[in-house]
Amino acid sequence: MAIYNPKSLKAEEFINDAEILDTIAYAEANKNNAELIDSILDKARPKKTPEGITCSGLSHREAAVLLACEIPEKVHAMRALAEEIKLSFYGNRIVMFAPLYLSNYCVNGCVYCPYHLKNKHIARKKLTQEEVRNEVIALQDMGHKRLAIESGEDPVNNPIEYILECIKTIYSINHKNGAIRRVNVNIAATTVENYKKLKEAGIGTYILFQETYHKESYLELHPTGPKHDYDYHTEAMDRAMEGGIDDVGLGVLFGLEKYKYEFIGLLMHAEHLEAVHGVGPHTISVPRVKRADDIDPDVFDNSIPDEMFEKIIACIRIAVPYTGMIISTRESEELRGKVLNLGISQISGASRTSVGGYTEEERPHDSEQFDVSDQRTLDEVVNWLIDKGHIPSFCTACYREGRTGDRFMSLCKTGAIQNCCHPNALMTLTEYLVDYASDDTKQKGFALIEKELEKIPNEKARRIAKENVEAIKASDRRDFRF
Ligand code: SAM
Repeated sequence: MAIYNPKSLKAEEFINDAEILDTIAYAEANKNNAELIDSILDKARPKKTPEGITCSGLSHREAAVLLACEIPEKVHAMRALAEEIKLSFYGNRIVMFAPLYLSNYCVNGCVYCPYHLKNKHIARKKLTQEEVRNEVIALQDMGHKRLAIESGEDPVNNPIEYILECIKTIYSINHKNGAIRRVNVNIAATTVENYKKLKEAGIGTYILFQETYHKESYLELHPTGPKHDYDYHTEAMDRAMEGGIDDVGLGVLFGLEKYKYEFIGLLMHAEHLEAVHGVGPHTISVPRVKRADDIDPDVFDNSIPDEMFEKIIACIRIAVPYTGMIISTRESEELRGKVLNLGISQISGASRTSVGGYTEEERPHDSEQFDVSDQRTLDEVVNWLIDKGHIPSFCTACYREGRTGDRFMSLCKTGAIQNCCHPNALMTLTEYLVDYASDDTKQKGFALIEKELEKIPNEKARRIAKENVEAIKASDRRDFRF
């Protein structure tokens, strides 16, 4: 039997089934242990140090106890703590992005995804470079600066060369004042060589969802194709890091397996990355299975109610305080509104999950990956965020300034983020308002910026940010950053 070892490079040792089962039992046995729960919450609380605010995070065992706890006042305390941690490190900023589907050709057999090989009635599409260009112009015209590119796995139709060519095209386009300044990549697990190529192409985060950490279920849910190889998939982030990519994004597809197992697996994966590479995941995504062509989400009997989903998000926030958390348009406006206060730091807006969807007048469904719940325009989402007291941020400065991996984490840890991320958010929001926003959003947005500029602690940074905001308003100068 494999022995749990977070430093191992073997999937079955760092995501260890026996350790997960033992942790579930430990959490169950301690779920009413108020004293233990209080001590865990105390440990996780942000602490002031001479260098700034720090947070210790939690081990998967400690976090599992919080997740199992059903004592109402403790659950309330968890939610409050999650928000406190979020505000300490991410402030009230919410980073905006959109997915861009390049191709839905796929050789895998994932039973929850309509792109699976056996689905013969979904329209198969792959963007030409001209189509990539048009999609990117449409996205730039909405105001997007950050994309996550998505593709099925098909070595013939979508080889790595195709993905690289698309990245090059995306970065080359400047329509009016538009630019895509960060391309995150969500493609199938690949080789160290290919990760090196992605790194050279200037990608931001490499995102790969584990789907499920439960090996037996994983093998059933991915019956055919290269993705069937659980170990190769689970060890992908280590290869990505070996290839030089130091911002990686984890996620599980909630609903496939039991959430306690997935939650613990996810945190063990984060601990493994920290133990081996000295840096945890840059982001964690929390997708839930959705209805799609050929896919009925009700056949997966592990769906989680909203309340539990919110608790999972809060507990992840508490356990890995420096990791960004992403929620997509799979979720409704209402749910997204709630989890913004529980730790989410990035959301997508105006997403279309079909190949070539952004250039269509009407939302196309023929090549769509899943139903989108939040169908609002980007301007509506930005307006809504401002109303809720958040700062929509189009910032992409960190990785362009070389602040990736542990350098980003140390920025987070020293609290310098207030003199850096906060002004960057305000300057990029100014760009958005000047170039793309409706009158109502402009009015609210400029009022927010005026107020928020005063909160930049460092006097010099505050002065420069104010000057840059004015320069953006008065001219076509763009892309100021700290
Ligand atoms: N082909 C790549 C891979 O295998 O990782 C890229 C992933 S795919 C374009 C992005 C993600 O969509 C998948 O990792 C999966 O978690 C999610 N997904 C697939 N089918 C879904 C569904 N029916 N509902 C919600 N999310 C789904």
